[in-house]
Order: sequence, then structure tokens, then C-alpha cells
Amino acid sequence: MSLFSECCRYWSASAVILGGLILLTGSYSWSEDKKSTKVEVRVDERPGRPWLYRTRNFAVQTDISREEAEELLQRLETMLALIGKYWGRPNSQSIDMYVVRDVTKWPPGSLDPKGLQSILAGGGVTVGQSRQNSQTGEVLASRAVVYATADHGTPQHEAVHAYCMLNFGRMGPTWYAEGMAEMGRYWKDNQQAIHCDPEVVKYLKSEPPKRLAEITSTAQRSGDNWQNYAWRWALCNLLANNSNYAPRFHPLGLALLSAQRTSFEDVYGPMAKEIAFEYSQFLKDFDNGYRVDLCSWDWKARFHAIQTRTINTKVKAAAGWQPSRVTVKSGQRISYSTVGTWSLTKDGEKLAALGTLSGSGRLVGVLFKDYELSEPFDLSTEGSFVAPSDGKLYLRCRDDWTGLGDNTGEISVKFQKGE
Ligand SMILES: [Zn+2]
Repeated sequence: MSLFSECCRYWSASAVILGGLILLTGSYSWSEDKKSTKVEVRVDERPGRPWLYRTRNFAVQTDISREEAEELLQRLETMLALIGKYWGRPNSQSIDMYVVRDVTKWPPGSLDPKGLQSILAGGGVTVGQSRQNSQTGEVLASRAVVYATADHGTPQHEAVHAYCMLNFGRMGPTWYAEGMAEMGRYWKDNQQAIHCDPEVVKYLKSEPPKRLAEITSTAQRSGDNWQNYAWRWALCNLLANNSNYAPRFHPLGLALLSAQRTSFEDVYGPMAKEIAFEYSQFLKDFDNGYRVDLCSWDWKARFHAIQTRTINTKVKAAAGWQPSRVTVKSGQRISYSTVGTWSLTKDGEKLAALGTLSGSGRLVGVLFKDYELSEPFDLSTEGSFVAPSDGKLYLRCRDDWTGLGDNTGEISVKFQKGE
């Protein structure tokens, strides 16, 4: 039995994207701190034809400059090593790629018509084929050839597809295949913060959140439009980097690539409300510089009403909303005091919970109830407040959501029943 797979095209020439992104939590990281080692690139200088560049895992024919080609191969090799580690299978065969900037530099007939069509549309395509045992579904042999425009991270996107095709014999369902390939497209060495095209950010934030069931529907097809790719990327990015969902995302991906019977619904169904809440927060707060890993919601914290006891908690400057462990009733007065300082940059001014004159660095609270948040309200170094509604109190240091990564310090807060 032979299966043919193709992923994927971008129909919009302005489809966009640039660098950045990828991280992951725990041991399943695409981003590593250690400096990548330089790979050796062998160059075949072919007169009158695009040159051929070979590394351990790639054979790339391209018309881009030698310097750019060597830089591209370097990036692809580093990314491939990391994704091979992430998916637990080092790449097994060389990945053949045609990377095209100027089609007039290619002799007639040197590009597959299907590849050429995708390139002219401003995108790329991975043409894959695998032979499988028709009884067991086991993959016996695979091939994958990539055709890609030179820009917008397209070679990285397609290389993720090719890796999956060659090492698993398949790319997974559309939402996963394209979401992960988009993560590869944005991937940059040692970068944890989001960096994508401002148009993509603008689009995702301006639309009503697309329902998760719609993004993961089996009716979805590759090559539809860049807007759908943006939603797939947003979902995979959240699941891969949020500490609540990353531990299940990794085995789910492996199961999908191995064609086991499972799905997004099977795995995350029991956490549907939590995911929907964090997904809507992500869409509201994210932009270039945002760190998903720092904004994971703490669902495990225990909360208590304040009676005679006091409740102590610590709030980090370099994180999103954090549990105070205090449950409040509408109209209830709560007293609090704080100890400590934090900074909004690595070696920045030390600020108490009152923050700066303009209000940044200030301790702020919000109430969580029925998977919704109240309007945030200001706190200070000490004082009291009247709860505007019922709920669980969460706290954070006020800063741009995209600027949490370089914050330092934490403030201890003590709550007791108000007078
Ligand atoms: Zn794709």
C-alpha cells in the first residue's frame, strides 16, 4: 500500500512570518541554551545551475547566495537535531530540498511541476510517499522531497514535514502537522519568546477565537489559507509550551505520528474548560515577546476563605497571574501587607508593590470565577480592599504581557480579614 501525502502551500504571497519562537517546557524542549555546533557544508559548484549544498541530514539545491545557503543549512541542521530529540527519533535519511528565490535561474524542467506551482504561489510543498504493510500499517519505506521559496521561514516549515514523513511515514492530522510545521517555521535558536509577523498577531487578536473543535476537525485540509495556519500555530504553540498541557502534548504527538487511535478530544477532553480559558487569555494577551511558559495558569493551588487565619503567598515579577490562595466574597473587606521588591528589567530599579508613578510594577489583583476574570484592580504595599465580586484572588506584577521575561524579584503578601 502506498500513501501519498502533501503538505502544504500558502496561498497568500504576503503570507508572512519571520523568525522566532519555540520553546517548550520540561524535558521536551526545542530550545536549548547550549550554543549550536557549526556543521560542515559541502558545496557542489555546478556551472549554469543552482548549486548543491550537502550536510549530514540535507541535500539542498538552491539559487540563493553561498553565504545564505550555508546559514540556512546551519539553521536547518540545528532545528533538525532538536526536533529529532523532541520526537525521540534522530533523522534517518537525507532530506532533499529545492529552495528557490528566482525561478529564472533554474533550467527548464529542473523543478517538479507541483513544486514549481507552490513556489510560484509564494509557499512550499513537501511531496511524500510511504510504503506500508497493508495489514499492520507499519511503515516500510518513506520518501520526501521539499520544494520551497527561500523566504518567510518556508524551508524550515517544510523540513518539519519532511522529517515526519521520513521518520514516521506520515505527518499527522492537519492541525498537528501544520501547527508543528509553523512552529518550525518560527523557530530560532535559543529563543523562547514569540516572534511572528505583526499581521498574524493582528489577525488572531481581531477575530473571535476559533473554536478548538473546529481547528482540530478532521475535515481540515492543508494548503487552505494562511489564516487557518495561524490558528493551528496558536493552538500547538499553547499546548507545547504551557506547563499544564505540554506533558500530554508530547505523547499525543507521537501517537498521532504513529497512527494510533487517539485525538485532541480524547486527550484534552477532560481539561476542555481549562484549555478554553487559557486559550482565550493567550489570544487576548500575546504579542511578540510573550512567553507562554511564564503565563501557565496554576490550577492546583488550594484556596481558602479568610476567617481568623492569615494567608501568605509569594508573587513573582516574571510570571502572569498567580494564585493568592485567598477566596473572597463580594463586599468582603480584606487587609494585606507586602514585603520585598521586584524589577521590570534584569538590573532595573527595585520597586515595592506600589510600583512606579505611572503604575507599572504595581501589585494588581483579579478575581477568577466560572472560568472568567473580573476587571483587574490595583493593590499597593499595604492597605485593604473591598472585593468587587465573589471569586478566587490572583495576583501579578503589572507589566506589558510581552515584557515579563526579563523581570526579577518577588514580593511576599500577607492577607487577613479586614477591619
Ligand atoms: Zn505545511
